[in-house]
Amino acid sequence: MRKIGLIGGMSFESTSVYYRLINEMVRERLGGFASADLLLHSVNFAEIVDMQKAGRWDLAAEHLANSARGLKAAGAECVLICTNTMHIVAPDVQAAVDVPLIHVIDETARALTSKGLNRPLLLATRYTMEHGFYTERMKMLDVDVMVPDADDRTDIHDIIFNELCAGTVLDTSRTRAIAMIEKAKAEGADSIILGCTEICLLLDPASLPLPGVDSTAIHATAAVDFALGQSSAKQAAA
Ligand code: GLU
Repeated sequence: MRKIGLIGGMSFESTSVYYRLINEMVRERLGGFASADLLLHSVNFAEIVDMQKAGRWDLAAEHLANSARGLKAAGAECVLICTNTMHIVAPDVQAAVDVPLIHVIDETARALTSKGLNRPLLLATRYTMEHGFYTERMKMLDVDVMVPDADDRTDIHDIIFNELCAGTVLDTSRTRAIAMIEKAKAEGADSIILGCTEICLLLDPASLPLPGVDSTAIHATAAVDFALGQSSAKQAAA
């Protein structure tokens, strides 16, 4: 089994989901008491949030690149950034290590196109919805992402940071998110990307008005595939 390196803590609410899903999948696939061979560097999220708010993506890149170097030095054979937002600095993180970075956008795009879906609504942080790194990379992978309108972007961003990252899950916010999905459906969306690693705490991708793909589960699955030398391992290493 190859050793997985996780850069987590952004937030720890979702990193704990990664940890559980990865271990459950390894046990399911290998049986018995099998569990994942993994390393976790859980960063102080407050520092990252300050860098995000200040637009200091250069500092964040350095911080996460150092984290990746540490994981590699400790034996990690791949690295995952356990947040969609911080994939904004994924090129710097990948450049820092000579092991594959398993990229959440690539894995999510593959999950969509393998189901014949290519017009998803993206629910994510403001950074992911507005900074272009996400929608442009998706475009290159033949996925034409829709983003919510300005008011909805503010609401979903606030739900993520003020509630989900703080461990609070509210029915009123679930209703609000479903209303965004209904609106997008009427406007031609064919699917929903749970494009923030905490949104799976709020929404069940299997019970939405449109087919949902959960970035956390997809990313965790790709890590297990890599660790066990199965499907997406080859693509991640390429
Ligand atoms: N975990 C979230 C994401 O997937 C947001 C937290 C962050 O800003 O990294 O984008």
